[in-house]
Amino acid sequence: MSTPAYAAASAGAALAPWSIERRAPGAHDVQIEIAYCGVCHSDIHQARGEWGGGIFPMVPGHEIVGHVGAVGSAVTRFKVGDAVGVGCFVDSCRECASCHDGVEQYCTNGMTVTYNGYERGTQTPTYGGYSTRVVVDENYVLRVPAGIPLDRAAPLLCAGITVYSPLRHYGLKAGQQIAVVGLGGLGHMGVKIARAMGAKVTVLSTSPGKRDDALALGADGFAATREPATFRTLAGRFDFILDTVSAAHDYNAYLNLLKRDGTMILVGMPDQPVPLAAGALIMGRKRLVGSLIGGIRETQEMLDFCATHNVASDIELIPAARINEAYERMIKGDVRYRFVIDCASF
Ligand code: NAP
Ligand code: ZN
Ligand code: ZN
Repeated sequence: MSTPAYAAASAGAALAPWSIERRAPGAHDVQIEIAYCGVCHSDIHQARGEWGGGIFPMVPGHEIVGHVGAVGSAVTRFKVGDAVGVGCFVDSCRECASCHDGVEQYCTNGMTVTYNGYERGTQTPTYGGYSTRVVVDENYVLRVPAGIPLDRAAPLLCAGITVYSPLRHYGLKAGQQIAVVGLGGLGHMGVKIARAMGAKVTVLSTSPGKRDDALALGADGFAATREPATFRTLAGRFDFILDTVSAAHDYNAYLNLLKRDGTMILVGMPDQPVPLAAGALIMGRKRLVGSLIGGIRETQEMLDFCATHNVASDIELIPAARINEAYERMIKGDVRYRFVIDCASF
């Protein structure tokens, strides 16, 4: 099926209209008419070749929501008209220990990413959600609960699960102090979800103008990280730090803000390495950890959690034609707080 899309023809090229072929649904497939697709900073990293090895032309987009348009003969979990979502991967080996444990994102044979990958066992590139339709195996499709507006649900499929998963895994508890570093797409979901888990949230930001928004999103405090005093007054304050920053910055300074036995979680993935002083971890027995999105089971749990706690993304809805402008604004930290493409605009 010929399907309109927006693609980067080569690394760093502006995105432009293009046409892709989607497969006819197989027995286990769900065909999704895409309503909205969120714009993740990972889309920019990959479309610009910042992580290396990109497959071009590239159709980004892994925060996909829409309605089921057709199902294959063996599909049991979905029917035409259901509100559904697709996140960062569309398949995995289904055999390794990670797949068995429901953490398919760590598949030892490599998950099949929603775009910038190849369909399993083929040389056919996968294309993402900057498009109007996608076909995905039902085991990798999520159900979007009725309580969440569909456009505001899209960013949950990557930004939401990426912050939810480590907070659950590393055990954020009600009443604990957490700092969220960087108030963008992931960061604003971090504030909302940590708050819904009962934690006390402080936003650490390079943008002093985001203070009021941070408090309105549910943060208890805000501190400007370009103010050197911040790193003195908040020393030893936090049980957790959730670092969502997309550009290289000094982790050592942030580690000093943890309590003894505190945990700093990296989810932001800058393209440049950063030197780490062993003392920053040794003093106070601190942990520096990372986390990659979340598995299918946990993504469904997160969607249901968001519906229960009235959590959804704050978005700016854009037509597909404004995608390049959205990228430029995100790079400047000027996003409040997730761009979402209205796929009716193709
Ligand atoms: P985003 O919306 O662009 O937000 C990033 C925020 O980081 C900005 O709004 C800004 O917040 C801060 N920032 C940007 N440049 C900075 C700099 N030079 N120094 C300090 N702070 C800076 O991006 P996003 O979509 O949330 O993604 C954030 C990162 O997470 C990206 O690297 C992305 O690839 C990665 N990611 C990882 C996973 C995973 O599974 N681990 C999943 C999705 C995304 P302030 O204005 O508040 O400072
Ligand atoms: Zn993403
Ligand atoms: Zn696997």
